[in-house]
This record gives sequence, structure tokens and C-alpha cells, in this order.
Amino acid sequence: MQKLAGKTAIVTGAGRGIGNAVARRFASEGARVILISRSPSSCGGAAEEINKEFPDSCKAYPCDVADYAAVQETMAAILKDFPQIDILVNNAGITRDSLMLRMKEEDWDAVLDTNLKSAFNTVKALQRVLMKSPAGRIINMSSVIGLVGNIGQANYAASKAGLIGFTKSLAQEFAPRKVTCNAIAPGFISTEMSNAIPDNLKEEIVKKIPLKEQGSVEDIAALTAFLASDDARYITGQVIACDGGMTM
Ligand code: NDP
Repeated sequence: MQKLAGKTAIVTGAGRGIGNAVARRFASEGARVILISRSPSSCGGAAEEINKEFPDSCKAYPCDVADYAAVQETMAAILKDFPQIDILVNNAGITRDSLMLRMKEEDWDAVLDTNLKSAFNTVKALQRVLMKSPAGRIINMSSVIGLVGNIGQANYAASKAGLIGFTKSLAQEFAPRKVTCNAIAPGFISTEMSNAIPDNLKEEIVKKIPLKEQGSVEDIAALTAFLASDDARYITGQVIACDGGMTM
């Protein structure tokens, strides 16, 4: 049975990586999916690919999620085409790693704006519509780094920890309207973002993972689809790590 039949979802950062796998999984579960990413070719190409497999399931709306005005404008255009949104996945994210001693103000601002303020931007635009859904869902893509921190990632860790506080606050505010809000903390997942790490460092990280392997984008997509489904109706305000046991 398709778990998301009849639902409409917005997934940010859906051009590639985890967001792309989430969009594909949602389409396979019967949802209509709106893909957002920065570049038109990225989310447009991704939507085209998914539509080949699941016809007419996807539509792309390029937008910089860090830009408040652009998000309000894009969401207004989406709502004209799709008046009811049931699921919002705030997944778009970037890294600008460096030690605090060398971190520039623009590295801090870019990461906080893209990873954290973006969630404020999308929720501001969609909260009333999500409250009208019989089973509204907000799923924020945090990170294990937001739980434990990391050398060279003070900006990224702060943004991902911030998403957790945002998630728990929204879960409390929106619970009376039956909108759940949860965060996922992926561990070390194979994507373009993590492929930027040198091979020798990757091996060191994998050695420390109890399940001794990198996770796949499909692992995260499966958890996201579960949290978006009616099966997860009684789960809210949680941070669920999907990390091969890294943070147990
Ligand atoms: P990728 O770098 O592979 O993909 C990121 C996606 O986000 C791209 O589609 C990109 O758009 C989009 N994006 C980036 N900035 C913006 C912006 N300003 N506006 C709109 N879209 C934007 O990342 P991953 O798939 O690896 O990561 C996805 C999420 O999961 C991130 O939030 C990341 O922090 C988190 N995560 C990832 C882990 C991993 O190991 N990979 C571990 C823990 C958390 P475009 O295609 O147009 O460039």
C-alpha cells in the first residue's frame, strides 16, 4: 500500500543527495512532490527523472531558501498550483567548514541562513496551510553534528542544533492543530556533501561507526517517509538519529 497517497509534499534541497532520494521515495509512496533547490537545472532535472518513473508526480520550483522574500514569493506561486500542502521537509543545507580561528563572518552567515533561517522562511509561508491538513508534517533535516559538535564545523553544528530547538518549539506550538514536527539526524551518508571529505578521513570515520559502513540516501528517505506517513501520527518533537549507531 502507498503510504502517502493523496498527500502533497514540499522537499527543499531536492536537486540531489538526500533531498532527491526523499522526493523519489515520496513519489513512490503516491505523494505529489514539489522539489525545491537553488538551481533550476538541478531541481528541474530531478523532477524530470522522477516523473519518468512515477508519471506526473513531481514539479520543480527553483528558489534560494535562504532568501526570505524569495521563499514567500515561491510558496505563494506553489500554493496557487497546489492549494493544500500536507508535508514540508526542510532538507536544503550547506557546509563552509573551517576552524573557528579562521572562520569568516560570511561562512557563518551563509551556513546559518541556508540551514536554519531557511526553515523559518518556509514555515512562515506554509504554517497556516499545514494546519489545515488533517495530518500536517514538518520534518527538519538536522545532523549528528548538531547533537555532538565537530572540530571545524562550529557554524554547521550551531545551525543543526538550532534546527533541533526550532523543531521542539514548533512541535509544541502546532500540536493542538495535529501538525507534527520532528528532526532527523543523519550520520555519515554518501552524497556530494560527504564525498568532499578525503578518502583517508572517510575510512577513519567509518571505523568509528558501529555498523561499519556509510549510510545511503535511501536509509534517510525511508525514515523521512515513515515520519511523513500516518503511521507516525503519534510521534512529535523528536530527533531521530539514522547514523549506524554513531551517537548511541
Ligand atoms: P548535497 O550537497 O548533496 O545537496 C544539497 C541540496 O541542497 C542541493 O540540491 C542544493 O541545491 C540544495 N541547496 C543548497 N543550498 C540551497 C539554497 N540556498 N536554496 C535552495 N536549495 C539549496 O547535500 P546532502 O544531500 O548531503 O545533505 C542534505 C541535508 O542533509 C543537508 O541539510 C545536510 O546538512 C544534511 N546532512 C547530510 C549528511 C551527509 O552525510 N551527507 C549528514 C547529516 C546531515 P542545488 O542542487 O541547486 O545546488
